[in-house]
Amino acid sequence: MNVMEIFETMEYGPAPESPTTVLDWLKERQPFGLFINGRWVKPASGKYLDTINPSTSKPLAQVAAANSKDVDAAVSAARAAAETWSKTPGHIRARYLYAIARHIQKHSRMLAVLESMDNGKPIRETRDLDIPLVARHFYYHAGWAQLMASELPGYGPVGVVGQIIPWNFPLLMLAWKIAPALAMGNTVVLKPARYTPLTALKFAEIVQEIGLPPGVVNILTGEASQVGDALVRHPGVNKIAFTGSTDVGRTLRRATAGSGKKLSLELGGKSPFIVFDDADLDSVVEGVVDAIWFNQGQVCCAGSRLLVQEDIASRLIDKLRARMEKLRIGDPLDKAVDIGAIVSSAQLNEIQRLVDQGVEEGAEIWQPSWACPTEGYFFPPTLFTNVSPATTIAQVEIFGPVLVSMTFRTPAEAVALANNTRYGLAASVWSENINLALDVAPKLKAGTVWVNCTNLFDASSGFGGYHESGFGREGGKEGLYEYVRPAWETSSPRTTEHSSNGPEQGASTDQAGEDEEDHAAASERANGYHLELPAIDRTPKMFINGKQVRPDSGYSRDVYDIRGRVIGQVGEGNRKDIRNAVEAAHAAGGWATSTTHNRAQILYYIAENLSVRETEFARRIVQQTGRSDADAATEVQVTISRLFTYAAWADKYEGVVHRPPLRGVVLAMKEPIGVIGMACPSENPLLGFISLVAPAIAMGNTVIAIPSQQSPLSAIDCYQVLETSDLPAGVVNIVTGERDTLSEVLSDHDDVESMWYFGPAEGCKRVELASAGNMKRTWVNYGHSRDWLDPLQGEGEELLRESTHVKNIWVPYGE
Ligand code: NDP
Repeated sequence: MNVMEIFETMEYGPAPESPTTVLDWLKERQPFGLFINGRWVKPASGKYLDTINPSTSKPLAQVAAANSKDVDAAVSAARAAAETWSKTPGHIRARYLYAIARHIQKHSRMLAVLESMDNGKPIRETRDLDIPLVARHFYYHAGWAQLMASELPGYGPVGVVGQIIPWNFPLLMLAWKIAPALAMGNTVVLKPARYTPLTALKFAEIVQEIGLPPGVVNILTGEASQVGDALVRHPGVNKIAFTGSTDVGRTLRRATAGSGKKLSLELGGKSPFIVFDDADLDSVVEGVVDAIWFNQGQVCCAGSRLLVQEDIASRLIDKLRARMEKLRIGDPLDKAVDIGAIVSSAQLNEIQRLVDQGVEEGAEIWQPSWACPTEGYFFPPTLFTNVSPATTIAQVEIFGPVLVSMTFRTPAEAVALANNTRYGLAASVWSENINLALDVAPKLKAGTVWVNCTNLFDASSGFGGYHESGFGREGGKEGLYEYVRPAWETSSPRTTEHSSNGPEQGASTDQAGEDEEDHAAASERANGYHLELPAIDRTPKMFINGKQVRPDSGYSRDVYDIRGRVIGQVGEGNRKDIRNAVEAAHAAGGWATSTTHNRAQILYYIAENLSVRETEFARRIVQQTGRSDADAATEVQVTISRLFTYAAWADKYEGVVHRPPLRGVVLAMKEPIGVIGMACPSENPLLGFISLVAPAIAMGNTVIAIPSQQSPLSAIDCYQVLETSDLPAGVVNIVTGERDTLSEVLSDHDDVESMWYFGPAEGCKRVELASAGNMKRTWVNYGHSRDWLDPLQGEGEELLRESTHVKNIWVPYGE
């Protein structure tokens, strides 16, 4: 082609980036060892694995294959380093993070080329997006290290964090994991993905260059079955942070259940890209390119479902096809290339399998006329039309450059279609009508919503999902809480409670039981109150949908006092009662959109009605627990004060506006989670119940509470208080019965969005295991008791955080 022809066609010529520096580095360094305790060591197995360049399908380098012995060594190193690192002042940690950021920038070109060669993604993306964002993450978190003492008072590091990352953004995912962990004083053992280990190894060199203390960062390459599994199960690891597929996320939830390890999961997605008929269609077309052909569509938040308003659908599809015809696919190191290679032959085959299935299911496929390179793993940009919402390609994450398109007529239909997925990671809304866009954004079940833009990320704005997209956030202040624990938690005692049923307290024969009995007798004498009073006969009922209803089972269970005497009965709740309660809680979803002022008013009203019956409630506590009158009176007073606290927070726990480096703002909105199941603690029958219910409803959730199994009568006495306080039906539902059985039903229920459990360690494990089904959020106490009277433990910000999600809505501005 001569110059005149180029002017005619305006075709791009090749603009290749040189791989020489990277190839020299690989030649000099390989085979790569493992990075443990600040040194490069040989793997215990003596084995090495090839890593492939997906654009040529040829080996690039050999990396060590770690096994469980190497995991032991790395965890020991991290644990030893944690001793000092956790006490290193924030300012010093900030200096190290700052140095990492600087060194990322110093090696930015090399890192960009290395990432492209190892992963297959275009150099334009690694150079302009991945690597700058990596540096930004370390800068941003250097700031949080500096501010930790003043901005997160009362919190300390979690300890040793095991981090497992995927292959789609290898260095960026490393940064998302390591930067906040180190900033908060943790040490880490990181496992990169099998396909893409190289930039993590270059990062280890940077860690050495800046003189980070040995053991603070350890990097183990190898296979999931050897390294990943051992890391997840290692008793010396305090938290697992994972990004990857929902299936593996579910495995990790089950593997860590009951271990007390913190867990954050950033999983898959099938994100909607909604186009209203007043959108700027040329911008939309470029948006779609960024949504689904960026990184070959191997993006957890890829806008893979195009939802278009019916009247503009054919116009938009024509424009899209014209644009697809012009996309350039090829050598990732060519700066004029839009689409690079798929990461592996296995991934390529999986994409092809799902595309074939789409065709079989009757959808209409369209691909550009040009052919892909024959060497390496390439897949053309693909558009499906005539797709029905229930088909595989509309529901399953394809993780490739494949877009499925559907139409809608009204905004309500768009929202219903968008939310018709088991995922909830991200969404884009395109409309020139900002009123419409900002009305739709909060209705979308997604952790991030982009208005007239897509796939924007910044360290200041948390990222993470709902439902089967996982839980936990990365980035922003909310992301820091994944890497800290309240300082008091580490010293809290284990509860003496067990998961068994029946009159736990009364029939005990051990020393503790005797002590309790002596105490009960003493307090009876001191109170002048004798528990021989005839039990008050009550009709045992549940509180569901604002009504007192009989238990479905038709059975009741006895409630005992501390000396083992029956003081009343409550309904024996079962699966059907829980189902009815969940249905009622869902139907009361309008509570989430009631004004915060209204919610505050109702909480004050509950407090007011409770205070009228203060003596009666105190008496009930004494009757159930044998505690002194004074203790019981204090519990009721603190309960009233707690209701005031959450009435106060109802209109004050608000979001923030981030200012990422773009022309626009990100509205970080705190949203209710939805339906929360909660097994209340037994320590304080009234205060424990209200301490959980009040923050949840203050934030707009609806709840199904299982009151203390031993002492449920205080919660039952609240029925009348709730009935007379203008609380809409279904916002609070109470099901009595066997805590662990009911908790398991709630944890397993697909329509419960989060499960809280305060009870023995075995029960916590069962809740975490059962919740893996739909990957709901859980909050459990791992068998540790909590001092509910202590404001820090009983009404700290932690409760509000557990009651909310942060949704980030990106709103760019300017013409
Ligand atoms: P995986 O979820 O299998 O891998 C992610 C990371 O987890 C890798 O480091 C992997 O190691 C590790 N891992 C895998 N199994 C275990 C285990 N049992 N215990 C501990 N660690 C484990 O993703 P794949 O690479 O297999 O991709 C499959 C599909 O997952 C994709 O098609 C896509 O749909 C989805 N995916 C989603 C991502 C996201 O960002 N949401 C990212 C990547 C994939 P190793 O690499 O050695 O196998």
